[in-house]
Amino acid sequence: ARKYVVKRHFQGVPKKDDFEIVEYELPQLKNGHFSVKAEWISVDPYFRAYNSNIPTPYDQFGFQIGTVTESKNPHFPVGCRVFTHKGWCDYSVVTNLKETYGNVHILPDLQGLPFELALGALGMPGVTAYFGFLEICKPKAGETVVVSGAAGAVGSIVGQIAKIKGCRVIGFAGSDDKVQWLEKELGFDKAINYKTADVSKALKDAAPKGVDCYFDNVGGELTATIYNQMNLYGRVSLCGCISSYNEDPTTYKTSSLLPLILFKQLQVEGFLVPRWLEPEDRRPEAITALTQWIKQGKIKTRSHVTEGFDKIYDAFVGMLAGENTGKAVVKV
Ligand code: NDP
Repeated sequence: ARKYVVKRHFQGVPKKDDFEIVEYELPQLKNGHFSVKAEWISVDPYFRAYNSNIPTPYDQFGFQIGTVTESKNPHFPVGCRVFTHKGWCDYSVVTNLKETYGNVHILPDLQGLPFELALGALGMPGVTAYFGFLEICKPKAGETVVVSGAAGAVGSIVGQIAKIKGCRVIGFAGSDDKVQWLEKELGFDKAINYKTADVSKALKDAAPKGVDCYFDNVGGELTATIYNQMNLYGRVSLCGCISSYNEDPTTYKTSSLLPLILFKQLQVEGFLVPRWLEPEDRRPEAITALTQWIKQGKIKTRSHVTEGFDKIYDAFVGMLAGENTGKAVVKV
């Protein structure tokens, strides 16, 4: 079997030689164990963000969907499709069902939808969008919602949920193609290319009555501009700050956003999605709603597929650089 190993902590953008692909022997199965052949592997921003917290070398990261090829566990028979956190490896042996972000499990019935959605809209990013937006922003019909990172895995779902809830939705993304997709296919009221637009003016034009809810995937200067146009008592769901992930955390500065939060009396709440997975696993609630919306055509999804185990690094840094529209996944 083959797996990626991270040899050293990333400095800035992750480099190809920070990784090594290692061949290894799978262990013999004992009672309760089963082996899995990977079919789809997810590349996610959190893997960049958490890198400096994990002692190197390390090798188990990321979600994957695979098929059980050998089994000594009656609950996971040969041929069933499973979701694991075994990450960037082509074959693995599951010895322990308990994992971060929820346990190893058989894929729920996706009602004929593509399996890779279990890594995107019907997986961790979808659950993040569903609870992170609805429970923290608490949107009301008629309110103005802004989403940054709007054409990505989480942001594209948040914007469409906001439309379902009757909000006016404005999205920020990093290319004209993404802007087109958001406006023409996903039904955003307005999308703005933050790399080319005068962001402050474009937002004023799109949201003349100010912003009530902000779902933040990116942080940085874009976020500062949006906070400037938030309404009194606005709500901010702080999901991610990808614009800072390549910085050294010891150099973070005190934010000049604090006066805006104070005088506009904003509610700003950071969250990590495991809060809705433990102790009570509320995933089924989100997955049921999202599956229904996708089947009804109210939520559209897109996967940005890279082919080949050897291309996982490229898919990962490509996603960090914004090459993906929708969820970035690798077909093994
Ligand atoms: P995406 O599919 O959105 O992919 C990342 C995107 O980030 C890129 O496509 C790029 O799009 C954008 N980006 C990269 N660099 C910058 C930058 N400097 N400024 C603005 N945008 C940038 O990833 P996900 O949907 O999986 O994740 C989105 C965010 O949500 C991340 O910050 C992630 O860490 C966070 N997250 C948080 C979770 C939680 O529990 N709190 C759970 C899951 C995700 P563009 O072309 O628009 O620049």
